[in-house]
Amino acid sequence: MRQTREDPVTTSENRRPALTATDPELAALVTAEERLQADTLRLIPSENYVSAAVLEASGTVLQNKYSEGYPGKRYYEGQQIIDQVETVAVERATSLFGMDHANVQPYSGSPANLAVYLAFLQPGDTVLGMSLPMGGHLTHGWGVSATGTWFRGVQYGVRRDTGRIDLDEVRDLALAERPKVIFCGGTAVPREIDFAGFAEIAEETGAVLVADIAHIAGLIAGGAHPSPAPYADVVSTTTHKTLRGPRGAMLLSRAEHARAIDRAVFPGLQGGPHNQTTAAIAVALKEAATPGFSAYAHQVVANARALGEELASRGFDLVSGGTDNHLLLIDLTGKDVPGKIAAKALDRAGIVVNYNAVPYDPRKPFDPSGIRIGTPALTSRGIPASEMGTVAEWIDRVVVAARTGDETVVEKVRAEVRTLMDAYPAPGLPVG
Ligand SMILES: *Cc1c(COP(=O)(O)O)cnc(C)c1O
Repeated sequence: MRQTREDPVTTSENRRPALTATDPELAALVTAEERLQADTLRLIPSENYVSAAVLEASGTVLQNKYSEGYPGKRYYEGQQIIDQVETVAVERATSLFGMDHANVQPYSGSPANLAVYLAFLQPGDTVLGMSLPMGGHLTHGWGVSATGTWFRGVQYGVRRDTGRIDLDEVRDLALAERPKVIFCGGTAVPREIDFAGFAEIAEETGAVLVADIAHIAGLIAGGAHPSPAPYADVVSTTTHKTLRGPRGAMLLSRAEHARAIDRAVFPGLQGGPHNQTTAAIAVALKEAATPGFSAYAHQVVANARALGEELASRGFDLVSGGTDNHLLLIDLTGKDVPGKIAAKALDRAGIVVNYNAVPYDPRKPFDPSGIRIGTPALTSRGIPASEMGTVAEWIDRVVVAARTGDETVVEKVRAEVRTLMDAYPAPGLPVG
């Protein structure tokens, strides 16, 4: 056993004495997850490490309170404090993102998007969004989602030759199909979203433009990606990805849509808000307004660029040829390894990624051709661009090993990953 970490039981007892006493089984699992997050190179682009302050805020007695409604208009008494908590969160959200209105109550990104449908569409109405296998999200009208079964989803993708969204195609689809809502943004889009271009199309076709910035909210807050604020009617975002807050979501909007959005979230879709999450969102928004966070956001992008260049120089095929943001979508067809086999080998090596479809993927969604990786979490540990050559080399060695079945390479990389992770402790985790 390595000397750098405390004995896990001691750690758990010291840090979570009540949980350890009541439920040692669960306490041990939490400690094990802590250790896993400390020891692995986490490259899933939607994941991050929240600060100790955000963790503390999300584990408070605020969670004991029921608060259906909005500040000043609640259905339960005893809101003297909760109203202040939610008001602070709302004010910080509108200020950080430069929008008129913010609703901080959605339980997560998917319910936030469902509230958008409830606010602007009737069942059967048309929604235009990016298709899931091209990089969009399930909730943008994809067939297996309620948004694609209760509504009529029309989907755009990316061009085969460039791997990028073709706004002419989006415009043609919008003119032909007349969607009531257009979603832009996605989960596997390595390039800048042209909010102005989408806004022109929405304006021309009379659609409500929703910018779903779940993945890039932190980059926008930090000034490392253009803001949708001047262009979008509604901005939907999760709070737990690049924004580095608790698991939750927000809907920001122009003043004219405030009432529709608020009514859709409550009473349309949800009951009481998760007040402990609201508090932690407020803390994350305060952190995201600092110069340090702006530096973080720019470093996330610099690290992704550097990692992309290092991977490309090792013969990896990057969808769209590179990245403008925090993520890279890699087509492994040329490496002769399916995405899932590569992802599982990387996981054994302590490098956590997800297998992912690539545009025009000939393979099945549950066994696709690519992997998706991103730099938000490693950047939260302070890992600099100068280490991206090492990371790319590990990925290269493990992908080759996944093909040849050479498990000793995987084990060797696992040890090297641990050493680097020990040098860059993660926020919010105990340091040994
Ligand atoms: C993550 C994500 C969501 C959904 O968020 P959940 O919190 O997982 O429900 C919605 N839209 C986009 C673009 C996302 O990346």
